Amino acid sequence: MQGEQVPINRSWKDKRKLLLLLPLMLLCAFCFTSWLSYQVAYNSLKEQIETTHLPLTSDTVYSEIQQDLLRPIFISSLMAQDTFLRDWALEADPDAAPIIRYLSTIQQRYQTVTSFFVSASSSRYYHPDGVIKSLSIDDPDDAWFYRVSQLPPSQDYEINIDYDTADTSRTTVFVNYKVYDFNEKLIGVTGVGLSVDSVKKLIGHYQKNYQRSVYFIDPLGNLTLSDSGFTGPRNIKQRAGLAEQATLILSATEGRYSFNENGSQIYLNARYIPEFNWYLIVEQQDLPATAQLRQTLWINLFISLVVTLCSLIVANFTVGRYQRHLETLASTDKLTGMSNRQSFEGHLEQVIDIQHRANSPCSIIIFDIDHFKTVNDNYGHNVGDIALKQMSELTQKHIRQSDVICRWGGEEFIVLLPNCDALAALEVAEKIRLAVNHNELNINGHLITMTISCGIAQIKTHEVLASLLIDRADKAMYQAKQNGRNRSVIAE
Ligand code: GH3
Ligand code: MG
Ligand code: MG
Repeated sequence: MQGEQVPINRSWKDKRKLLLLLPLMLLCAFCFTSWLSYQVAYNSLKEQIETTHLPLTSDTVYSEIQQDLLRPIFISSLMAQDTFLRDWALEADPDAAPIIRYLSTIQQRYQTVTSFFVSASSSRYYHPDGVIKSLSIDDPDDAWFYRVSQLPPSQDYEINIDYDTADTSRTTVFVNYKVYDFNEKLIGVTGVGLSVDSVKKLIGHYQKNYQRSVYFIDPLGNLTLSDSGFTGPRNIKQRAGLAEQATLILSATEGRYSFNENGSQIYLNARYIPEFNWYLIVEQQDLPATAQLRQTLWINLFISLVVTLCSLIVANFTVGRYQRHLETLASTDKLTGMSNRQSFEGHLEQVIDIQHRANSPCSIIIFDIDHFKTVNDNYGHNVGDIALKQMSELTQKHIRQSDVICRWGGEEFIVLLPNCDALAALEVAEKIRLAVNHNELNINGHLITMTISCGIAQIKTHEVLASLLIDRADKAMYQAKQNGRNRSVIAE
């Protein structure tokens, strides 16, 4: 019995191992390939953003702002070089009318938002509308003039963003150009103001359509020009995640950076614009396609899980069926379809145990076909086989569902009869014996009648070994043979 159970346990363990290992391997492979393809797609997307999209946006904005700003710088430069302006400024107490007319002409001809001249000697602010004010060093609004006056000789102008004094709703970019006399002494600051609407429109366009932020910062990191929707701090050094890289950004002429802000990855492209002494920053918060990639990854993983589960079910079903088939093959006699000796032995041990515990009688019948050798000898082995098969079918008709019949070997059979004492077993044996005896077989035209000899044994109270029971039944059967065959004998 023990010898029978070990292989079943082992095969069950093997099956469990296979059923665990197979989906685990599948799942690992699926997860790995899904993750790998996600990484590849993500990296190529990131690379595209960093090397193509952001620099391209930067180029476009740069060329646009050049169109917007270079022309006014050029106009301001012309004004600063203008001999009329310089001669007029050098006059001791100049009349305002000519310079006002001059500024008005400039404004009209070049379609600028404003034009101005501030005299260093009188601090007067001349504008196409007249003398607007006298600048004071104490007025913070006038700080720009004193700042420009202090600019190093190498720097002829600065660009300053401010609200227009004439229309405060409009942001104006002022080109503040230094004016020198003919001995290189500063005599004033002139220039034009322009609206940066087209740049702002472009910035808004990028903001809206590509979720890209475009803004400008000065060499100290202060925000100089941005979309009205810009929400970040006024200096990049105050920005979480970027503070560390700010110095790097402000010391290089061009660079690509990425940093983490509030859990989302931000890609940033910075480029120094020497004409304005500003940095143009283009940044993209996270990759818009990342969410899609992540969704695809989840879908992939979900499909992998479903496929793994399906394969687990199929494998379980197939292996189970195959295992059952193998078990049936291993425990069944091929010719008769009855239990074979090996499986019967295990079964018999169990039944004996159960019957002992229930204190119920239990008997077995061993029967052997009489002179079967002559059947083989007379009609051939094939006919012998058919005879065996038909005889076993006939026998099975005379036993209960709960009884077990086994082909013990050759033409010898055992019937196990639980809850059955020797006398009742004798009745069954006789029924089988008579049925066999009265059944004439017609095999391939050969009429064959067979007889059997039966030995019956009932399990004794303390008999636990199946072999002893079989041995007693076998002896009884031998007795039946001895007594002339075609009969049943109960073991003592
Ligand atoms: P008895 O039992 O009455 O003493 O005589 P017997 O002729 O039946 O003698 P024994 O049991 O010793 O011989 C059994 C014969 O059954 C011998 C063997 O060739 C034959 N046999 C055993 N298994 C098979 C089988 O599967 N098919 C066929 N055709 N013959 C078998
Ligand atoms: Mg025989
Ligand atoms: Mg025999």
